[in-house]
Amino acid sequence: MRILLISDIHSNLSAFQAVLQDAEGKWDYVWCLGDLVGYGPNPNECVQLLRTLPHLSLAGNHDWASLGLLDISDFNADARYAVHWTANALSEESKKYLHQLPVTLVIDDVTLVHASPRDPVLEYILDSFIAALNFPHFDTSFCFVGHSHYPIIYQEIGEQDLPLQIKSPEGSEMTLNGQRLIINPGSVGQPRDGNPMAAYALLDTETKVYQARRVAYDIPAVQKQMIEANFPERLIKRLETGN
Ligand code: ZN
Repeated sequence: MRILLISDIHSNLSAFQAVLQDAEGKWDYVWCLGDLVGYGPNPNECVQLLRTLPHLSLAGNHDWASLGLLDISDFNADARYAVHWTANALSEESKKYLHQLPVTLVIDDVTLVHASPRDPVLEYILDSFIAALNFPHFDTSFCFVGHSHYPIIYQEIGEQDLPLQIKSPEGSEMTLNGQRLIINPGSVGQPRDGNPMAAYALLDTETKVYQARRVAYDIPAVQKQMIEANFPERLIKRLETGN
């Protein structure tokens, strides 16, 4: 099966639509790694659009926060604003959908979580040390994560060595074979790797070919909506810097 891998849409409908347009005809099923909402101006539209696609989705920390399922006292002020705004904007139907999302899924040789296998909603895998601590927490060869908004692959080398960090820039391909990997496709709606284009990936579960992809979208249009909804300036600005 050909999988469209997306994560961290964060209520950014323009970015989500651009990804679907760019990937058209190249996939059969969607794996969404959570954080459908939070930060952007179109939470309900993003939930609705995902639900029109053949898909599965995990729950992310912003999904939980928007439902009041997570203590957000350690979120920064901008993120807290986005949580309150989103909680207010979400329809009952969107809330019901987000509420039933699982935190971990295992499909054949793949584990899927939003954050990390040992802490599926909250932990950031930001370096090889944290990746090393997480390899023992899943039994499959591959684990797909989102959450850090940074497209990257960690490869397990051995119990004594730190995992290898493999950058996955736009267009790069890798055949997933014989190695244990933690793979992050990056963020659709709020990239943080210095590249403002929406990030996603394609995975063919038969040939095991994984391809990292980027696509431009209308950032000023999203920023205009955010200005009208009084979003904090930093959240508006970061869309164009990708940080
Ligand atoms: Zn996120």
